[in-house]
Amino acid sequence: MTEKINASGQCLCGAISIEVTGAEREIHACHCSMCRRWNGGAPGFATQVDSVTFNGEENLGRFESSAWAERGFCKACGSSLFYLLKPDTYIMNVGCFDDPDVFELHGEIFCADKPSMYALAGDHPRHAQMP
Ligand SMILES: [Zn+2]
Ligand SMILES: [Zn+2]
Repeated sequence: MTEKINASGQCLCGAISIEVTGAEREIHACHCSMCRRWNGGAPGFATQVDSVTFNGEENLGRFESSAWAERGFCKACGSSLFYLLKPDTYIMNVGCFDDPDVFELHGEIFCADKPSMYALAGDHPRHAQMP
């Protein structure tokens, strides 16, 4: 069982601030083509949380990226904020948090789709698809 923490964060412009409880410290990076486009080239580094509170929710945009999921972003600055597995499982992009160093990379998924221009350091499992 991975250790869980509470964390705070915000989008780039600050129109949306975020408080989460029960964020998993051990995270995975996703190299799938949807995360690549969503994050502008970087893999998706994200953590599942027990609950999330948004301040400035009127600035929150939601894009239905599949029949079972939405991706959330700031309508003012475009920051990618979360993947929502419907109805209520929030997987937050760790880049929005004030202290991303509290998270540890414990695996990579969809490595078959990873662009060749980068590689992530560390000795952790690398899965070609979703394990
Ligand atoms: Zn913003
Ligand atoms: Zn992905």
